[in-house]
Amino acid sequence: MKVLKFGGTSVGTPESLQYVQAIVNSQTEPCIVVVSALGGLTDKLIATAEAAAVGDASYEERHQEIYDRHKKVCSSVTPKSRLSSVWNKVSFLLDELSAVFKAIYLLRELTEHSKDLVVSYGERMSSIIVTSMFDNASLANSLEFIRTHKHFGKNVLDQDASTKLIKETFNKLRNTRITIVPGFISRDQSERITNLGRGGSDYTAAILAAELNADVLEIWTDVDGFMSADPRIVDNARIIDRLSFVEAMELCNFGAKVVYPPTIYPVFHKNIPIIIKNTFNPKAEGTRICDGEILTTDILGVSAISDTHLITLKNAKNGLYERMINRLAGQGIETLMPDGRKCCGVRGSDVKRAEELLRDEFAQELIHNTIEHIAISEKLSTVALVCRGNQLGVDTTSELLSALNSHGIPVVHAPQQASPCTVACMVNANNLSEAIQVIHSTFIHN
Ligand code: ADP
Ligand code: ASP
Ligand code: MG
Repeated sequence: MKVLKFGGTSVGTPESLQYVQAIVNSQTEPCIVVVSALGGLTDKLIATAEAAAVGDASYEERHQEIYDRHKKVCSSVTPKSRLSSVWNKVSFLLDELSAVFKAIYLLRELTEHSKDLVVSYGERMSSIIVTSMFDNASLANSLEFIRTHKHFGKNVLDQDASTKLIKETFNKLRNTRITIVPGFISRDQSERITNLGRGGSDYTAAILAAELNADVLEIWTDVDGFMSADPRIVDNARIIDRLSFVEAMELCNFGAKVVYPPTIYPVFHKNIPIIIKNTFNPKAEGTRICDGEILTTDILGVSAISDTHLITLKNAKNGLYERMINRLAGQGIETLMPDGRKCCGVRGSDVKRAEELLRDEFAQELIHNTIEHIAISEKLSTVALVCRGNQLGVDTTSELLSALNSHGIPVVHAPQQASPCTVACMVNANNLSEAIQVIHSTFIHN
């Protein structure tokens, strides 16, 4: 059995859905097909909810656009014999969504729960539409079997509850050839709708592949494989034909958007290979992510976390730095490039909570001036160069610095070894694309 995942880039239009249909129909073994919302829809749902929350009545027009887009896609891809029943289901959800937007507009309030509810409609609708394209497909709704619970204020997978529900659901579907599953969405212990985080459909697919012992997890997207850099930034980025799980994890953790980072863990544990394939060019081999050492010394790629903040304890006395790192780590906040003396980076999504925690941790020190202040630099990016295995050269750090210097790109936080195979540094966000291009041409293209 296989798990195939098609992202928003693959399910965005009637034309792209024809490619999806052909790929799924060509499968010779039973498969689970995980789908994202129509491309760009999740961003649009969030923007519409945010407009409604500030009293911007244009939310109604935006909802109408969402409605029209689904109507067009649904009527283009659904066989006539099923169209009316399928459109009934989709338009029921669209009407419900309209009511949710109206409630947000009247309340002038967008809570975490209402935002999670709003974004869930994307995958709920796309999965109904994709199911309708196949004569013999069943729909298995993730809201019934992916459970989350809170961990340091974030919704994370509730492994035990999900394992049990997945087994129950898929036992009943044992003889089904094609099962369509909405990615990304889940429920919490109080049955409220949650999700696995942006890009989370990859993770849904990996959870199912691991729980159901799939032979392979295929991630179908819009590029020919995992590449040495984001091809939208580097024209001559090259395909990496094979990666170990650890190498893929390193590139993804440092921002390679092609796979959502938590995706690797469930399949890594079961040693189930991941193959990254191009929906629009299925003949291309793609990238195989699997176990095992690859005995070359290549540099693999450049990844970047575009929204990074650098937190510095200004004029802090000794010993306080360790407390900063411990407090953040103890609350589940990952620190990027800690310098061992006074500063560390955090992701944009964590910075607000990190600041609150540090103001609490150092309340006395700030009053008594043992710390002058906590400085937070904005608009920075972390850029990382990842090598195979532990093959980082002794001079890589200084070579990276001089490459950036020689192109006049200011380095805000000096390069340092971030792991046995990665060197990272911070640059101003507006220099990020150029920094990636320079590093790629210095270390990879040459
Ligand atoms: P999907 O909708 O299929 O989930 P995503 O937009 O999440 O697609 O991921 C695919 C995109 O990831 C590609 O279009 C590419 O621009 C971007 N990307 C970033 N880094 C890389 C990389 N190292 N290799 C390939 N693609 C990358
Ligand atoms: N639709 C969700 C998002 O845009 C999940 C996904 O596409 O993987 O983040
Ligand atoms: Mg994605």
